[in-house]
Amino acid sequence: MGTITEHLSEVTARIRAACERGGRDPACVTLIAVSKTKPLSALQEAYAAGARVFGENKVQEILEKEPAMPEDAQFHMIGHLQRNKVKQLLPHVSLIHSVDSVRLAEQIQQEAKKQGRQIRILLEVNAAKEESKFGLFPEEVMDALEEIRQFPNLNICGLMTIAPFVENPEENRPIFQKLYQLSVDIKKKNIDNVTMDVLSMGMTGDYEVAIEEGATMVRVGTGIFGAR
Ligand SMILES: *Cc1c(COP(=O)(O)O)cnc(C)c1O
Repeated sequence: MGTITEHLSEVTARIRAACERGGRDPACVTLIAVSKTKPLSALQEAYAAGARVFGENKVQEILEKEPAMPEDAQFHMIGHLQRNKVKQLLPHVSLIHSVDSVRLAEQIQQEAKKQGRQIRILLEVNAAKEESKFGLFPEEVMDALEEIRQFPNLNICGLMTIAPFVENPEENRPIFQKLYQLSVDIKKKNIDNVTMDVLSMGMTGDYEVAIEEGATMVRVGTGIFGAR
């Protein structure tokens, strides 16, 4: 049982080691400190230890925490987003990981336009096709992209997935490989308004494997802040 500061430096070291194994540049992997359910004091400790990007899954928590944190702390929405919460959320986030339908994207576009913002988004992919999960199935992604890329206030930066909960992270390696391949295939098409520079995959149990397979953002909660 260490402190948040100790956990953070251990996670950072493990990220570096995974980059080395995977032949990846550590500068290309961003750690998202998933602070959902945790009090502001925990975020402040992580900030003091160097964390700058925080992941939350509830709009309400972002509305409370973002204004209370230093200017250069960024917040990412990583949880399922209801359309009626989009308006409030937009001023407080720098990336939405969890765009899982064209309808949601359309709502974000409408509000972004009203607010005069450009919003960076990822498409959430249910890569393992779990019934309990949100996200587009891999075969639905291209059609959704074709529609969403036409929304002028959105920038589609990449893909996100929540891999299944497994005992052995190796079990998720094929899922991560699949998402990586999908992003490479999309990138090759050179679609307007679609960059595919971000691949958000890997959590406390499997972020090292995700990095070996090409993750550019890992979302680590428990491994930094302890059990929820
Ligand atoms: C909670 C959450 C995480 C972090 O999970 P840990 O296992 O605690 O690291 C990552 N991604 C999403 C979408 C989450 O909801």
